[in-house]
Amino acid sequence: MHLSKMLAETAVKNLDKTAFYFLDRPTTYGELNAAVNQFATGMEKLGLQKGDHIALVLGNSPHFIIALYGAMRAGITVIPINPIYTPDEISFIANNGDVKAIVTLDLLVPLVEKLSSHLPNVHHYIICETNDERVQNVDPTQFSIYSKMKSFSQILASGSIQYEAPEIQEDETAIILYTSGTTGKPKGAMLTHKNLYSNAKDIGNYLKMSSEDTVITALPMFHVFCLSVCLNAPLISGARMLIVPKFSPREVFRLAKTYQATIFAGVPTMYNFLYQYEGSVPEDLLSLRLCISGGSSMPVALLKNFEEKFKVIVSEGYGLSEASPVTCFNPLDRPRKPGSIGTSILNVKNKVVNELGEELPANTVGELVVQGPNVMKGYYKLPEETAATIKDGWLYTGDLARMDEEGYFYIVDRKKDIIIVGGYNVYPREVEEVLYAHPDIVETAVFGVPNPEYGEVVQCYVVSKNPQLDEEQLLRYCQEHLAEYKIPKEITFVKELPKNTTGKILRRALKEQILQKTK
Ligand code: AMP
Repeated sequence: MHLSKMLAETAVKNLDKTAFYFLDRPTTYGELNAAVNQFATGMEKLGLQKGDHIALVLGNSPHFIIALYGAMRAGITVIPINPIYTPDEISFIANNGDVKAIVTLDLLVPLVEKLSSHLPNVHHYIICETNDERVQNVDPTQFSIYSKMKSFSQILASGSIQYEAPEIQEDETAIILYTSGTTGKPKGAMLTHKNLYSNAKDIGNYLKMSSEDTVITALPMFHVFCLSVCLNAPLISGARMLIVPKFSPREVFRLAKTYQATIFAGVPTMYNFLYQYEGSVPEDLLSLRLCISGGSSMPVALLKNFEEKFKVIVSEGYGLSEASPVTCFNPLDRPRKPGSIGTSILNVKNKVVNELGEELPANTVGELVVQGPNVMKGYYKLPEETAATIKDGWLYTGDLARMDEEGYFYIVDRKKDIIIVGGYNVYPREVEEVLYAHPDIVETAVFGVPNPEYGEVVQCYVVSKNPQLDEEQLLRYCQEHLAEYKIPKEITFVKELPKNTTGKILRRALKEQILQKTK
């Protein structure tokens, strides 16, 4: 089974049911499935074939869903790219990923035009119309890529609503995800049809997602968390999606109330924004039956405050691009443990190992490794990196974790983020938890910087909502809660912290900034 085939089956059962709302306009499952067939046939008419690669440089929109499912149905591999990447980042991914066609927005044509001379293998630019006033009077014939441009609606019009899809094997690559820039150079994780389908199915079952659900799709679609939890799982469950083009608390609250949403998924930063949003009231999220957090550690204080304010369960899970992504989730039918990423989801095994790959006993910190039908085929054109990441059939996550006696996992930190102060290990997360529990702290990032005496010391950046709070007071608070060696040697107050597009705080970038300054 694969996702695009499954969508066709869901569509038969839910022909006239709304698949998604975008800008308050509904699209039914019948309409979506027909557009997916049109895109698949339109691609073939352009000369693209099974096994070719296309890139989607798009934000959250129906175009993204139609192109993704249309390409998958035709056996074409999709490479989703963050539309706010720099031209260098986009051309690196497009070239490394052997992309033959790029699907993008009319607003981004000037950017793509600049790139085009670096993309000799891209023969087609498929342009999605936004009706934005900034492009109303732009003459497309001025662009050198004009002869390679086709509008998205032309592609659909050239296609057919009936489609005889080619036979697709489960282990063929459906998408290549270039892993987010929080670590090193981007590497393309090849996710097969089986990887994507199994994770969407398992996560949908785990969350008891059904055609009764209305899911808020506010995470960026090019990110694997959104793809699996807010897009693939709802589509194969026959649920309704509320597409949020660009995250804002106001829009999330509006959609939740207007369409009686039942599920919201986000990264902790989004929860923080929703929680802090002035004027938000518990009734704003009354219809939700479940909130899902993932992508980075959910501070326990924020989880509890959010649950208390909005009277909704927040369940934390864990995943990574290489595992399509979810591997653990807090169970819904057993106690949830705040601070934990929960237990292994169905069909997926997680364990904690030492440097030799030996399983460690409960409550011992080691590297989290994963096995299951969701684990990627490998990194595209990088056999050595693949061999270093998947060993003896286990995916090495690079995350440090421990498991308790009841099989609940706790992410302690990323392997590379450990701070070693005079021989003692400090996990940034531990210090961040304490800071987040302070009533005035809105956001924080903790990291290690070199120190001649101790090797490394702890430093932190904080965003405070109380202008009266100073470093001395906060240090005194830390002294009450942390061992001496864990207390930050310096606290910097800032207005906001740098984040990537999924909302993850760029802890490493902050650290590098400081190191540059002290050079
Ligand atoms: P990405 O491949 O961009 O999805 O990033 C995956 C990484 O995000 C993981 O390897 C973890 O370091 C981090 N991550 C995801 N979920 C969690 C979580 N619930 N708690 C802590 N870290 C997480």
